[in-house]
Amino acid sequence: MDGTVNQAPRAASAPLIDPFARRITYLRVSVTDRCDFRCQYCMAEAMTFLPKSDLLTLEELDRLCSAFVARGVRRLRLTGGEPLLRRGVMGLVRNLGRHLRTGDLDELTLTTNGSQLARFADDLASAGVRRVNVSLDTLDPDRFRAVTRRGELAPVLDGIRAAQAAGIAVKINTVALRGVNEDEIPRLIEWAHGEGMDITFIETMPMGDIDGDRTEHYLPLTEVERRIATRWTVAPSGHRTGGPARYVHVAETGRRVGFITPLTHNFCESCNRVRLTCTGTLYMCLGQEDSADLRAVLRSGANDAALAKAIDAAIARKPRGHDFVIDRLGAPPALARHMSTTGG
Ligand code: SAM
Ligand code: SF4
Repeated sequence: MDGTVNQAPRAASAPLIDPFARRITYLRVSVTDRCDFRCQYCMAEAMTFLPKSDLLTLEELDRLCSAFVARGVRRLRLTGGEPLLRRGVMGLVRNLGRHLRTGDLDELTLTTNGSQLARFADDLASAGVRRVNVSLDTLDPDRFRAVTRRGELAPVLDGIRAAQAAGIAVKINTVALRGVNEDEIPRLIEWAHGEGMDITFIETMPMGDIDGDRTEHYLPLTEVERRIATRWTVAPSGHRTGGPARYVHVAETGRRVGFITPLTHNFCESCNRVRLTCTGTLYMCLGQEDSADLRAVLRSGANDAALAKAIDAAIARKPRGHDFVIDRLGAPPALARHMSTTGG
């Protein structure tokens, strides 16, 4: 039989395996670069957002996500910017939900700041979303306003309650910030666990200009973990969510605390993920600049086979790992792009 006849369909459905034999099963998609907050560690106060024509349309986002699902991606996470601010985002979520029903996708989820969650919670649940991550760095309304530069805490708490009421499991993500929320870490754990939620702490990553020096607020999670262990009985947990967090189980509360530690602990060996920005740029590693322009491929009128080929070419360039370093002397960020561009 002629091998070339068989090749095209195989390429469009073959699993994505990178040069280090890691299978790519997780795609994070930033659906917008816009946000209603300006978190100090994430964005500058005066951000210039992208013109609409640069953004992938919702149809293009669906096509790209579906191309990855066809190649064995089992988990999709929508993020941003603030994903729930993208106009029409629920249409995209509902459409992507079809892959859950066919069994091609295990999970469709979101990372959100929670500000719009109350009005979308029921629709998200109907579309098949079973878990969301809500980012929350403090439970103090004034501090919340200061960290986010414009956010209000109450709607976020309402959003969390609405999601839980709709049957969606919520996990809290907290960036650990020296001199900002480090004193609140025990309270945040007590609150999250008391409300039936796991909580994950994240170290600040040197991404994008933010009008200020991130090193001043860098708090190594090894230190946070030590402090937690003096207060609670903790044991390592084998729990994995397909993400980079490492978990401990807290005996007193029966729930988990996670740690995402790109700076003090390298998690690249088991990396199964790639990231797509709202402009269709595929980053094979959060911590490296190399990327592939899939929007250009889409807009050149590529058919599914050509798109699959472009995805293969990108995955073949996935690097072994990142090399983030927080520069104590205040050098510019290791990566010029903001987390809101790649979606964290
Ligand atoms: N707006 C949504 C939110 O805040 O959840 C989704 C996008 S946000 C970029 C995703 C995650 O990245 C949030 O948990 C946020 O705290 C985190 N993040 C943003 N900038 C960061 C940085 N420089 N270092 C570490 N985490 C960061
Ligand atoms: Fe917006 Fe999320 Fe960045 Fe905060 S962390 S500014 S909520 S994108």
